[in-house]
Amino acid sequence: MPLLDRFARPLRSLRISVTDRCNLRCQYCMPEPEYVWLPRESILDFEEISALVDAFMDEGVDRVRITGGEPLLRRNLPVLIESLASRQAIADLALTTNGVLLAPQARTLRASGLHRLTVSLDTLNRSTFQALARFDELDRVLAGIDAAAAEGFRSLKIDTVVIRGVNDDELVPLLEYGRRVGAEVRFIEYMDVGGATRWTADSVVSRREILARLEAHYGPIAPLDEQTSAPADRYLLPDATSFGIISSTTDPFCASCDRSRLTADGVWLLCLYASTGTDVRRPLRAGATRDELQRLVEAVWSVRADRGAEERLALDRETTLIPIRSLKKDAHLEMHTRGG
Ligand code: SF4
Repeated sequence: MPLLDRFARPLRSLRISVTDRCNLRCQYCMPEPEYVWLPRESILDFEEISALVDAFMDEGVDRVRITGGEPLLRRNLPVLIESLASRQAIADLALTTNGVLLAPQARTLRASGLHRLTVSLDTLNRSTFQALARFDELDRVLAGIDAAAAEGFRSLKIDTVVIRGVNDDELVPLLEYGRRVGAEVRFIEYMDVGGATRWTADSVVSRREILARLEAHYGPIAPLDEQTSAPADRYLLPDATSFGIISSTTDPFCASCDRSRLTADGVWLLCLYASTGTDVRRPLRAGATRDELQRLVEAVWSVRADRGAEERLALDRETTLIPIRSLKKDAHLEMHTRGG
């Protein structure tokens, strides 16, 4: 019997943050000048992460995504990837990166067994990139995408957070770029999550608006009929180019959510919006066995009732959900700690 939560959602997908550090400061994730960081000694080492993954696998996890912060800042990351890739039960092993450090690492990542890669890219315009991410790194990101495209990952995706007045004039150029490099673009509605301290309802460009704008340029767009728990709804342009839209803000998909998140210091979060999580580092470091960890996972997931984005939508608020003063008290509330 698969492990199900209170809404009969299985535990399938685990997002593992390997660091809370990042080399960019994107407006929708890390807009403030100062941050509270996780203490170094609390960060899980690769053996600890692997041991936890085994317990999660025992309860049904078969998809793992490595996240951060920026995961490529974590030293010797391919060692962890190789270890995870050797587990037969993990059918899908992916990584999300901002791409800055990707060019020199793409080959090693592929060789270590990584299946899929997603690169965050919000703009093709250098000054917009600098304004959005606060570093002049667009060229290195594009070089990283080129390097990844040459490595033959099972899939290469580009994630774009669309923000009104910032990059919503680049929908077509980004799709065209994705087509050129062989990457599927996914447009993400701007979300009001921890770290998005400048979020406003007006700055969200909805799925409906994204589709309308693309149809005005390309002509009729057809939805792909797929039965999956993946967050993106996928569509086809008239020439069969596919792209995705993640409508977490205006049309959440909590009903089919099989994802949870492990922070770099071993806090297991059942939802992107969860205000607290389960400390799995403590029992692990106290010597818990695989069976004991598995039972902990089972006990926690079986009572899960999270549906954060749906609840957020029902609140119908115009401004940010989590005030800065709360973020400053607990690094675990930050988007860069919970891996987006
Ligand atoms: S808000 Fe929470 S429950 Fe809803 S899709 Fe996101 S992670 Fe899953």
